[in-house]
Amino acid sequence: MNTSANPSTGASRQRVCILGATGSVGTSTLDVISRHPDRFELFALTAHSRVEELLRQCVAWRPRFAALPDAAQAGDLLVRLREQGIATEVLCGAQALCDLAAHEEVDTVMAAIVGAAGLAPCLAAAHAGKRLLLANKEALVVGGALFMDAVHAGGATLLPIDSEHSAIFQCLPEDRARWAHRIDHILLTSSGGPFRQRDPATFGEITPDEACAHPNFAMGRKISVDSATMMNKALEVIEARWLFELAPQQIRIVIHPQQIVHSMVVCRDNSVLAQLGTPDMRVPIAYGLSFPERIESGAAQLDFTSLAALTFEAPDFERCPGLALAWETLRGPEGSTTVLNAANEAAVAAFLAGTIRFDQIHSVIAHALERIDVGSAGHDSLEALLEIDSRARRQAAQFVKGLAP
Ligand code: NAD
Ligand code: MG
Repeated sequence: MNTSANPSTGASRQRVCILGATGSVGTSTLDVISRHPDRFELFALTAHSRVEELLRQCVAWRPRFAALPDAAQAGDLLVRLREQGIATEVLCGAQALCDLAAHEEVDTVMAAIVGAAGLAPCLAAAHAGKRLLLANKEALVVGGALFMDAVHAGGATLLPIDSEHSAIFQCLPEDRARWAHRIDHILLTSSGGPFRQRDPATFGEITPDEACAHPNFAMGRKISVDSATMMNKALEVIEARWLFELAPQQIRIVIHPQQIVHSMVVCRDNSVLAQLGTPDMRVPIAYGLSFPERIESGAAQLDFTSLAALTFEAPDFERCPGLALAWETLRGPEGSTTVLNAANEAAVAAFLAGTIRFDQIHSVIAHALERIDVGSAGHDSLEALLEIDSRARRQAAQFVKGLAP
């Protein structure tokens, strides 16, 4: 690992690149890092469109690099940084994200971009053997075997940031070779989303703002809609399959509205290991940053005496028809999960734009899965997967056109 000497302590600091720094996970990562100036040095920050927020972050953190996809926005950022006497170099374009993720001076990459757009920089970080903190679950859902091959070939350390997967990871021994013998199955917990008790007959009236008002976490709008449809849990089932090398039948879901138990491992001897805590993304982020050590995260301690009850129930597959697609696509031909993710991204964007209703999201995904034949397509390169991804988006867009809101 490339590390720089800390001038005050002489200890080495991890140089961190945050992809998607302006988002919910990105800003929580900055919060954790701000608590440990002796351990971490901010090397690069990237964003998509929130230039003001990125400017504010650059002023506060003075990273060596900042990146935006759009050249005009990058130019604007550069001018405004120089006006304030800040020397941060500004890069633009998709390739810049890959270059920063693989930069020889970077030790740790926080992958906090939302959607398949994060796959290419994740692959770059994996090939370059970085410590890769994965919040961007879609990258693994799209990338699957290709992603994991890159991690193994590059010698990267892949650390889960999704709270459920961090929980499972925390319940398992550090030696990955012992995982397979230990696990009977895993239980991913889910809050059930904001509409767990709402009459499904009224799902067509749900507005984007209602869908984005998650009971326990303030998250980006895309993952908030995914939580409301439970597609987030479907993506997490697929994510778990790759992170922990499990068969589809070894991954189960349990609804736990309080979100205190973040997930569980059921061992071969039927002993159950769980990870608990207040619902706060800074805990998995801090663990990813400090693994195998533990550092202060800023999260509140759990007060067991104030917990009224911890309840658990079975998921309702009729109410959330997208959920079953996780196991179906995992058992289907390779590339099916890429279609699932792309169609979901297209459907969520259409719902947030007011083009389709909440209860039509599932039909867009089901339509794309039915129509796209992945059997003949290649799956062994980024280009091949992105080709499947764009076919699925085109198919979804065409279907959306025919739907009346
Ligand atoms: P967000 O929308 O708040 O932030 C997304 C970030 O990605 C922003 O910085 C944005 O500028 C950047 N971005 C968006 N599109 C991009 C593109 N095309 N190219 C480059 N950058 C782009 O999202 P979030 O809630 O922080 O979630 C980020 C990821 O973490 C998602 O994959 C989500 O599923 C996962 N995650 C989030 C949470 C949470 O609590 N928010 C929890 C678990 C997992
Ligand atoms: Mg999660």
